[in-house]
Amino acid sequence: MEPQQRVSLVHRGEVRGVPWVAVRPEAGEPPSRQSVRCAVCDRTLIFTVHGVAATRRRRVQRLAAAWAGFALALSGLIGACTADPDRSGDLTGALALLLFGVLLGYVSAVAAAEEAGITGHGTGRPFPARHTVAVLPPRPADMPELVCPRCGHHEDSPWGSHLRDSYVREEYEAARERLAEHRCGEPGPE
Ligand SMILES: [Zn+2]
Ligand SMILES: [Zn+2]
Repeated sequence: MEPQQRVSLVHRGEVRGVPWVAVRPEAGEPPSRQSVRCAVCDRTLIFTVHGVAATRRRRVQRLAAAWAGFALALSGLIGACTADPDRSGDLTGALALLLFGVLLGYVSAVAAAEEAGITGHGTGRPFPARHTVAVLPPRPADMPELVCPRCGHHEDSPWGSHLRDSYVREEYEAARERLAEHRCGEPGPE
């Protein structure tokens, strides 16, 4: 987990997100709030960014909930196997416990895996949301940042595990061509 996390705001159904840097607050500081503009619906969204320690805590809490869910499921399973056949209520109760436990365990495990310490607008929840914030892996070593050495002009291209590799390559090549053709001091075509 990075104190400055490169992330991408993804509108549901869109491939290309809006990259931004989530700056985590220092230890002991309250969570910070950062606004990002969605390129698809043109809304400005405010996300809450939690610190490194707080994010770890959130992950641990979700893992604990997942284990509790699976423990409930196990006791439901044992209950179902040992239920008295003459008392149908026992079996129903055990099966309900099993189902609830599996659901709680699964939802919590997914939430733990996806916990990035960034909340707001339903991101990081195990249910589909219109906007999600995806953590970007480090930029591939063979795709360095495209910056003009003379004027510092920067060409952006998307990358991340949520994108197809061929798409990332194509976009990178296109960005490299744009950089080669740009003229220093002139704003490029937007
Ligand atoms: Zn949007
Ligand atoms: Zn230049």
